[in-house]
Amino acid sequence: MHPPKPVLDRLLRAAAEVRRNAYAPYSRFPVGAAVLAGGRVHAACNVENSSFPLGVCAERNAVAMAVAAGAQRIEAVAVVGGGDRPAAPCGGCRQVIAEFAPADAPVIYATPDGEVIATTVGALLPFAFGSADLKAAEPGSTRSPAVPSPGKARSAARARASRTSGR
Ligand SMILES: [Zn+2]
Repeated sequence: MHPPKPVLDRLLRAAAEVRRNAYAPYSRFPVGAAVLAGGRVHAACNVENSSFPLGVCAERNAVAMAVAAGAQRIEAVAVVGGGDRPAAPCGGCRQVIAEFAPADAPVIYATPDGEVIATTVGALLPFAFGSADLKAAEPGSTRSPAVPSPGKARSAARARASRTSGR
């Protein structure tokens, strides 16, 4: 069940609002993100650091806020950032979002001027690595041998790729 448009609009507004608090003195690329989880909006901005690799994206901060509030299922994501074109979540954030959101959860990302692109978690991160992959590697699992031969590993990857997204 997807959140209705007014809820997604509210999510987008929350992302645009929190973007104003972004701490992005180095990239000068402020981003705001909001996730819908447990019916509540959790919004956060990017927070950079003079030690550059320690900066954290807005999306990951928003996910962390939702989890800290006790929510572990994300229903939708909104991101506001970029200049002339909407900036999609980076690869790392896609993986973090996929940990808590089903593949069909909507992701909308927009410029501050309101140009919006709508997609889904699964479209942004097809064939995502997830907890099911770890379970399949547990000893005693029938789905994956402890020491796969290269040929078998390849066919398993093919089988996974041909399956439709089943999260
Ligand atoms: Zn990111």
